[in-house]
Amino acid sequence: MTRRLSVFGATGSVGLQTLDLVAREPESYRVVAMTGASNVAQLAADARRLRAQVAVTADDARLGDLRDALAGSGVEAAAGRTAVLEAADRPADWTMSAIVGAAGLEPGLRALRHGGTLALANKESLVCAGPLLRAEAARFGATILPVDSEHSAVFQALAGERRADVEKVTLTASGGGLREWPLERLRDATPEEAGRHPNWDMGQRITVDSASMFNKAMELIEAHALFDLGAHEIDAVIHPQSIVHALVQFRDGGVMAHMGMPDMRHAIGYALHWPERRMLPVERLDLAALGRLDFSAPDPARYPAIALAYDVIRRGGLAGAAFNAAKEAALDLFLGRAIRFTDMAPLVERVMTRLDPRLEADTIGLDMVLEIDEEARRVARSLAEDTAWT
Ligand code: NDP
Ligand code: MG
Repeated sequence: MTRRLSVFGATGSVGLQTLDLVAREPESYRVVAMTGASNVAQLAADARRLRAQVAVTADDARLGDLRDALAGSGVEAAAGRTAVLEAADRPADWTMSAIVGAAGLEPGLRALRHGGTLALANKESLVCAGPLLRAEAARFGATILPVDSEHSAVFQALAGERRADVEKVTLTASGGGLREWPLERLRDATPEEAGRHPNWDMGQRITVDSASMFNKAMELIEAHALFDLGAHEIDAVIHPQSIVHALVQFRDGGVMAHMGMPDMRHAIGYALHWPERRMLPVERLDLAALGRLDFSAPDPARYPAIALAYDVIRRGGLAGAAFNAAKEAALDLFLGRAIRFTDMAPLVERVMTRLDPRLEADTIGLDMVLEIDEEARRVARSLAEDTAWT
């Protein structure tokens, strides 16, 4: 059966790896929409190759370039935020959500309305609005499948198990590119230094988030949102080799660990073929050749983002939306060299404190999320301008 498939964030690290798998069996899929932002040449080349119905750049100013690159191909070209949302309105059976940042939330929500499968790499949307996404999926009979490698691992370890039997879920973390740095040097880390990852080849933003462990903080919240886990039921352990992706401990003391070589095409392929398993072109694990696997507890002084995540989980409401936006703003400021690497967590904490009374909410709607998102970014930027904020 040919499945209709769309890829949001098609020009990014996850998007390209998704296209790699899709291109291996072109007869199985009909590509509906592909979206990107700045990288119009890549988007056009892949849209031609995969015969997409429409290719969309989120950047209005690049419409002309995209049109030129697609001339004569039969692929429609469109640009702008509204065009991205319209692309999500085109019916598809399987949609990859791999835009980076909160910009991925609305396309994901729209795609759920087709009642198919939303393969969710965009963890920001779960952090901002997990309950909203799940309610929308339930309303339209859609399935959300995690693509973040740790959450795909948890999902796989939970297959056939009862939620009531789960005692604890542990996510592994590589510790990022600055893991071995002396604590006192961290404040001088540059975006280039924080942007190198020992094991995974990912987009720049998530790579820096790995070094600060804001990525793992986001993933703890993501696990809470996906699997109904309380703060006391989730933790993270440093595992430099990234071979074990997550562990689920059951009430009888048994632990299921998901392992594999670090290659996102495993988690992407699992979501693409679920509930079946198919052959995937990933390197096979050879434990004897690896020799050893190491684990250690994350040092709270090195990774202050982790404690912030537990606070977000306990608070619920709009805390996740504020946290994500403050984190995105702090990351922008660090990448723009306006604040130091070690300023990011204290800045996010300050934003959360400042917005405190407004974060409570029993149910959250899209408008509320977008409003607090904007406010948190504004507060983060204005705090950072004041040199005395720390
Ligand atoms: P990349 O930065 O590599 O790619 C991001 C994609 O989003 C690109 O297609 C980019 O377009 C597009 N994009 C950027 N800004 C916007 C915007 N404002 N509106 C619409 N599209 C936009 O990111 P990754 O692939 O690394 O990550 C994607 C998501 O998956 C993130 O949420 C990340 O946390 C998550 N994830 C990634 C993993 C990985 O291994 N990379 C692992 C687990 C989760 P363009 O490049 O053309 O500008
Ligand atoms: Mg991950």
